[in-house]
Amino acid sequence: MTDLTIPAALLPADGRFGSGPSKVRQEAVERLAKAAPTLLGTSHRKPAVKDLVRRVRTGLRDLFALPEGYQVVLGNGGATAFWDVAAFCLVQQRSAHYVFGEFSAKFAAAVETAAHLDAPVTVAAPYGTHPDPDPVDGVDAYALTHNETSTGVAMPVTRPGPGLVLVDATSAAGAMPVDASQFDAYYFSPQKAFASEGGLWVALLSGAAVERVAALRAGGRAAPPSLDLGIALDNSAKDQTYNTPSVATLFLLADQVEWLAERGGLGWAAASCRAKADHLYGWAQARSWAAPFVTDPARRSPVVCTIDLDADVVDAAEVAAVLRRHGVVDIEAYRKLGRNQLRVATFPAVEPADVEALTACIDHVVEALAG
Ligand SMILES: *Cc1c(COP(=O)(O)O)cnc(C)c1O
Repeated sequence: MTDLTIPAALLPADGRFGSGPSKVRQEAVERLAKAAPTLLGTSHRKPAVKDLVRRVRTGLRDLFALPEGYQVVLGNGGATAFWDVAAFCLVQQRSAHYVFGEFSAKFAAAVETAAHLDAPVTVAAPYGTHPDPDPVDGVDAYALTHNETSTGVAMPVTRPGPGLVLVDATSAAGAMPVDASQFDAYYFSPQKAFASEGGLWVALLSGAAVERVAALRAGGRAAPPSLDLGIALDNSAKDQTYNTPSVATLFLLADQVEWLAERGGLGWAAASCRAKADHLYGWAQARSWAAPFVTDPARRSPVVCTIDLDADVVDAAEVAAVLRRHGVVDIEAYRKLGRNQLRVATFPAVEPADVEALTACIDHVVEALAG
């Protein structure tokens, strides 16, 4: 059965449904190629690249309607590096972590290794749901995850109690609504909803977060320079990064921020992603051999849709393998979740018609494999 062919007419125009790295719009890549001769390979301390950083910073400020006093900060190393940045520059003594998937667990584990901090408090929930953001005594920072990319569970961003609210928004930022008054750091990498490449972290910081950075520094907390948020803040204010960034990543990020704004900003993006996700969840519910992994509809991610398949009917890995042979890629389940599952991203760059084509393709493959 592995020589199964999907009719070309059923296939999506673009077969990239990965949850990160995710689809990069070809128009943006073409604009990059056009700009390349005077941009790629030029100094990040000179106007051409600084202008890109400026476009990213002002574009994100508008996209998220950031209140007065909030800063847009950039650095190298992606969201994973930002966990270490937070451990050095945002957590004062002890943090609380709502853990409900691989990424939220990784931040807690990173803080666990920080010798200058008390052991973090973890509040865990089974994968497929999320913990209630209840207050925790004796902490000065809360770690939330807006969208757990490993499980497809979305969690509201609200302040659990006094302390800084640090939100891993890596797969949510640019695709889910958020109220900036509810967070102190909303951080992400650009290779998910922002349809760019990896390697960079971006953080939206409140005035309270900026004050914490200064207070820890004044109190003698020493961060390695590449993880020093104070240094990143100083450089970002000059539309630079502390060390050399990927200029292509910045270009694609700026292009996507402006593309989202042209379409109606975060409201448009959120509605578009929700509609595509609703198509997938509704499709799964209408199949006897498929079901959304997340049972509570209110917790189902609008951007990372996890769909369980009935193992007695079909092997999800085989479905994904047939689709991959046809150029429809990265819908395999998160490797450590270990379920008979497909995981499909519906980020803003993914066309609604392609999501519909994808479900038609899965129907075709399952019918053929299940005989
Ligand atoms: C992808 C992802 C990360 C890791 O991002 P990197 O750029 O690889 O560091 C962290 N958190 C969440 C929620 C993610 O989706």
